[in-house]
Amino acid sequence: MKEHVIVMGGGVIGLSCAFELRRRGYEVTVLEIRQCGGQASGAAAGMLAPFSENVEGPDAFFQLCLESLRLYPQWQADVKKASGLTFEYTNSGSLYAAYHDADLLVLEGRLHWQREHGSSGRIVEGEELQRLEPHLAKNVRAALYTPEESHLYAPHYVKAIEEACRLMGVHIHEQLEQLTVSEWKQEIRVAAADGRVFGGNRLVVCSGAWAQELQETFGIRIPVYPIRGQICAYDAGGDGGALPVQHMVFCNQGYLVAKENGTLVCGASEDVAGFDTSVTDRGIERLRKWNKQLMPDLEHRVPFHRWAGLRPSTQDGFPLLGPLHASDRVIMAAGHYRNGILLSPATAMFVADCLDGKQTADRRQAFSPERFGLVAVE
Ligand SMILES: Cc1cc2nc3c(=O)[nH]c(=O)nc-3n(C[C@H](O)[C@H](O)[C@H](O)COP(=O)(O)OP(=O)(O)OC[C@H]3O[C@@H](n4cnc5c(N)ncnc54)[C@H](O)[C@@H]3O)c2cc1C
Repeated sequence: MKEHVIVMGGGVIGLSCAFELRRRGYEVTVLEIRQCGGQASGAAAGMLAPFSENVEGPDAFFQLCLESLRLYPQWQADVKKASGLTFEYTNSGSLYAAYHDADLLVLEGRLHWQREHGSSGRIVEGEELQRLEPHLAKNVRAALYTPEESHLYAPHYVKAIEEACRLMGVHIHEQLEQLTVSEWKQEIRVAAADGRVFGGNRLVVCSGAWAQELQETFGIRIPVYPIRGQICAYDAGGDGGALPVQHMVFCNQGYLVAKENGTLVCGASEDVAGFDTSVTDRGIERLRKWNKQLMPDLEHRVPFHRWAGLRPSTQDGFPLLGPLHASDRVIMAAGHYRNGILLSPATAMFVADCLDGKQTADRRQAFSPERFGLVAVE
């Protein structure tokens, strides 16, 4: 009989871990204080873009993102099969725009190392660029074209993993309001506000931007902070004629991505607003300013939908993944910042391998949840 795992948090990370653990035979309970998929995961643009998102170099984070992209074809098929639901998953490729020669030089540098790590990308310009994306502004000098990047429709994807979990026998409890971890060294005990106590053998912490709340409990620093992302969508087939966009289009201000449902999603701001998920006119205006420069046909269009979510950012940009030294009954999986949708399969495998005793210490080191030290005692 395999162990009973309590997963705290029903976002894409918690549900993906629950899905993978359940299919490896664990008994799994997901505890969610609000609603599954109701926070960052349901707000995401759904881009699976390790090359466009990692611009510095091939570090451990990039490697994890790339591994996750490669897991996606099988993973998404497994989620669809297990849930009986479908969701958009499109291998659109991406274009990263450069307006000037200096920007182009940067893209060429990036392409150089990314080609050594599996990208079949290339620089496109002139007629080829116009053919690939006819509505792009004429003053875009060139773009880095990365064919392997994909995207999915995040709200449907998260719903499908949740449904797969339920059908596979994962116990999911929502609207728990507040949870207290009362025991985590010998066994796991988590108490809910309504008096119920959930017991298990292991605890996987997937509480996204709220993970820091547990630092006193575990005695370690958990520097995970919410970074608000404001985002909006245009009706791509609306007033002013159809606006077919084929690829995810990035520039250094943000991105545009067309969805199967006829919307053009434009994201996203990065602002510090605590746990406030409201949308501001200023935030959306800022997006509109650069996106009509990238795609002039957007000049007279107004987004019909605006929303926001809280990305769980960390002090060094890497998520916290793996067991605690003080008790390997606790495994952290939080702080995925801008790439939690992309990283959901790799995180689920990582966590499940930790529980199965298959994860090597070497591999865990870069993401060690204890790398920020202990909480200072007053
Ligand atoms: C506007 C926007 C666009 C984005 N676009 C992309 C993208 O294109 N591609 C990509 O890969 N990523 C993208 N992201 C990032 C991605 O959404 C996140 O990295 C990912 O959703 C994090 O998942 P999570 O499960 O850790 O967090 P969440 O989805 O926030 O889930 C955490 C859950 O834990 C619950 N919770 C909190 N505290 C507790 C507790 N004490 N006990 C139990 N439950 C608790 C919360 O209610 C929440 O449901 C985007 C994010 C935003 C905001």
